[in-house]
Amino acid sequence: MRAQDLDSIRLSTYRTACKLRFVQKKCNLHLVDIWNVIEAFRENGLNAMDLNAELSVARLEVVLSTIFYQLNKRMPTTHQINVEQSISLLLNFLLAAYDPEGHGKTSIFVVKMALATICGGKILDKLRYIFSLISDSAGIMVHSQFDQFLREVLKLPMAVFEGPSFGYTEQAARTCFAQQKKVSLNTFLDTLMSDPPPQCLVWLPLMHRLANVENVFHPVECSYCHTESMMGFRYRCQQCHNYQLCQDCFWRGHASGSHSNQHQMKEYTSWKSPAKKLSHTLSKSLSCASSREPLHPLFPEMPDKPLNLAHIVPPRPVNITNDYSFSHSMPTSGNPYSTKKLNYNLDVADRLADEHVLIGLYVNLLQNNPKTCLLESSNHQDDEHSLIARYAARLAADAAAQQQRVPTDLPCSLDANKQQRQLIAELESKNREILQEIQRLRLQHEEASQPPPDRGQQNPTLLAELRLLRQRKDELEQRMSTLQESRRELMVQLEQLMMLLKEERKQATQGPGSPRSSPSHTINRPIPTPIHSDSASTTPTHTPQDSLMGVGGDVQEAFAQGPRRNLRNDLLIAADSITNTMSSLVKELNSEGGSETESTVDSDFGRELLATNSSDPFYAYKPSHV
Ligand SMILES: [Zn+2]
Ligand SMILES: [Zn+2]
Repeated sequence: MRAQDLDSIRLSTYRTACKLRFVQKKCNLHLVDIWNVIEAFRENGLNAMDLNAELSVARLEVVLSTIFYQLNKRMPTTHQINVEQSISLLLNFLLAAYDPEGHGKTSIFVVKMALATICGGKILDKLRYIFSLISDSAGIMVHSQFDQFLREVLKLPMAVFEGPSFGYTEQAARTCFAQQKKVSLNTFLDTLMSDPPPQCLVWLPLMHRLANVENVFHPVECSYCHTESMMGFRYRCQQCHNYQLCQDCFWRGHASGSHSNQHQMKEYTSWKSPAKKLSHTLSKSLSCASSREPLHPLFPEMPDKPLNLAHIVPPRPVNITNDYSFSHSMPTSGNPYSTKKLNYNLDVADRLADEHVLIGLYVNLLQNNPKTCLLESSNHQDDEHSLIARYAARLAADAAAQQQRVPTDLPCSLDANKQQRQLIAELESKNREILQEIQRLRLQHEEASQPPPDRGQQNPTLLAELRLLRQRKDELEQRMSTLQESRRELMVQLEQLMMLLKEERKQATQGPGSPRSSPSHTINRPIPTPIHSDSASTTPTHTPQDSLMGVGGDVQEAFAQGPRRNLRNDLLIAADSITNTMSSLVKELNSEGGSETESTVDSDFGRELLATNSSDPFYAYKPSHV
């Protein structure tokens, strides 16, 4: 680490993130996805143990060797890592951080939390898992456990001698969340992924951004050190004309000429060029989770989760099927695969994570294409080919599993471009299928409120679908949130409708001479549940295209005409219209989702604006801030 001269980085956040990234790469943990880590926990029986239970160093070593031996199984033969060395480096680092006095043991909580924080993978997945460790069975964060998490996670910066900037303090937890606040998963993610993130954890998202850009090449010269191979972040002065610094120079506060390091700088994570645009489009249409976050400081991959829904819908709006239960609802066994019936989903999940790593590697390679082709020999090309070949083989295997798909073996002799395009086309058609499956499964789930518990085991097709579901869970969640929101709105409307009806009735019964005070109308018969009303035949005037406005119109109409009209019928009509609106809403939502993936490639190839606007995002920097 000394050779890297990281200590000369003036900005403590960057210094910390760089050091931890350095440790991560040194131990080869950057190649390990959070899902692989979780799987290693499960394999070693850690999920069955209490979080406060203690783990001996020997057992910790076993966990680490599981992680790295599994990693080597996934790595291409040309990229095997030194397992023993990785284990010993990581073990030493963890012990230095968590057992400085040499007691020879750490708690399960510490091991899970530390490895989940420092491993590779998407920050969103990592935070989700961490949340599962610190929340109760209702999915609400336990503040004392969050405090405990901070206490432990901040030992990571301390272990790289950044304690003065990021050491634990009693106030740390309170600066993140108000003590009395109910913190759901969404709130937790929103807070930790916000911009800027809580001060004490600001290094964590930065570490991920760092990882994202470290292979990004900017074909411009650094105004200070004049290097022409600018990699990583690029900084542009907002005052001096065309004054650009490489990350090494900016972080160390270098300045030359009339430029001062007090000037405001913008941070760039990419370089605009035709090749770049193409690779962005590629990575975007691949859309599945490269092992890192997308090149975007605003974390667009995070679903827009409406916060105010927390008290109306459960934090996890749908259980798509019983089998697909999610980690945060089971704090003691946070591993989503730990459910007993998912036994043979395990290698599926493993393969999936594999796939993600491969795609991630591949996308990275693509992004660096202009450079790697020039600088590095045909070695790299061969890697690419083997990666593609491996991935193609996987796709083919998957295709075999899903009987309706035609296996398409990609001949390796084709040129790389063609293969890429085919790959993308395949992935996209896969995406569409998944979307359809999700919709189907959701309907099934809604129809059968209690699906048979072992359906997943009996039905191999369903199992294959489940495997795919994981990939699409984010989209689904987002869509469900929207759906729930609309549903809530409808319910509110319905409630108003009911109230109006009651009012109307009261008047009817109170008026002694009213012609409508006949028993048949005043009997307290249950009002038909509008959502499940199936009296569609009584509503000839209504089509599924009825909008919400239509509903309102019905209601007004129904009540504007006074007590002479049959209120019950009107209510039914209105209710039906709501049902129709809902179903058309669902349809719309789905068709929207379906065409989304379809259009990505075409529209992006055609339009420049996405690539130009979003590929060159920046952060404004006030040096005095850090
Ligand atoms: Zn420089
Ligand atoms: Zn300047």
